[in-house]
Amino acid sequence: MNETNIKDESLRLSDLSPAELAAALEIKPFQARQLFRWLHQKQVLDFAEMTDLSKAMREKLQARCAASCLTLLHMDQSPRTGTKKALLRLPDGESVESVLIRDRDRVTLCVSSQVGCALKCDFCATGMAGFTRNLTPGEIVEQALYLLRDEELGGRTPNIVYMGMGEPFRNYDAVMKSIHLLMEKEGLGIGARKITVSTAGEAPSIERFAQEDWQVRLSVSLHAANDTLRSKLVPLNRRYSLERLRQAILEYQTRTDRQITFEWTLLAGVNDRLEDVADLVRYMAGIRATVNLIPWNPVAGLPYSPSSREQCEIFRDALLMHGVTTTLRREKGQDIDAACGQLRRTRGMAV
Ligand code: SAH
Repeated sequence: MNETNIKDESLRLSDLSPAELAAALEIKPFQARQLFRWLHQKQVLDFAEMTDLSKAMREKLQARCAASCLTLLHMDQSPRTGTKKALLRLPDGESVESVLIRDRDRVTLCVSSQVGCALKCDFCATGMAGFTRNLTPGEIVEQALYLLRDEELGGRTPNIVYMGMGEPFRNYDAVMKSIHLLMEKEGLGIGARKITVSTAGEAPSIERFAQEDWQVRLSVSLHAANDTLRSKLVPLNRRYSLERLRQAILEYQTRTDRQITFEWTLLAGVNDRLEDVADLVRYMAGIRATVNLIPWNPVAGLPYSPSSREQCEIFRDALLMHGVTTTLRREKGQDIDAACGQLRRTRGMAV
């Protein structure tokens, strides 16, 4: 019989914690921890290389399941910045993109949580083709594993941001499970404070997230602080208004006492004016937050243009003058279309 015929495709090792591996494979907890280490810490894809597992177990695993459910279709690297973009194939033939960004000695992995996105923010590439499906926890974690393979981190753990394709809070349970897997000490062991979930403003999920017992960070993609403009840029605002969003953020801060980040993508003449600064400053009263300004990355076919460098700096300085801690992001992946909001499936396309 062909070996692939007897493999259990519903058994996805990357979806499972060490305890779940032990139960699913009927192996001892220490063996499950060894296996988890090979998969997550060493990013090994071939059971034959897992030399501290018995030969019998390696053969059993080989016959029964695959070590990974994603396949690397393409890895792009920007010669200028070192940014890497992975195009990964999912078991059902869909694909997702993930990005590794280097900033001095810091490495940040930007992972996708869905194939496509239903939110259709007006300036973002991902929503243009609509929503296809949620990713499983393993499909999220494996993006990080592929990006880290052969990567010299010098003992540092990377940051993880859920800012790739999709709205993480529309895939809440899988995203939470993926965070647990990334934090697992037998695996990548990433500290909660190095992980950021970014939402376009799913207010009820922010309240739910406030109850999670960890220090994972929250980013809210605001982009506008008056309802008319925000409803145009982020249609989700028609469901959860700025006031509703504020309530959720305040509840989050009451419960967790943690600062959040507001993401603000700067669009020339649309939300980069001094009146937009005034709206934002007013909105932030009572909220402990920093602002991260993102110059818009052009997306072909969308009716926007990026704010000039000068306008970005004027906007930033105006916020700083109001006492708001503000960072202006230098984009790192534009030359390979790996910057924020430029992610979409480019299957078969030269990237
Ligand atoms: N759905 C989540 C996470 C994915 S988007 C969210 O909205 O937060 C990650 C960030 O990139 C968001 O702040 C999003 O608004 C921003 N973004 C989307 N398209 C962009 C583009 N073309 N240029 C710059 N930022 C963009």
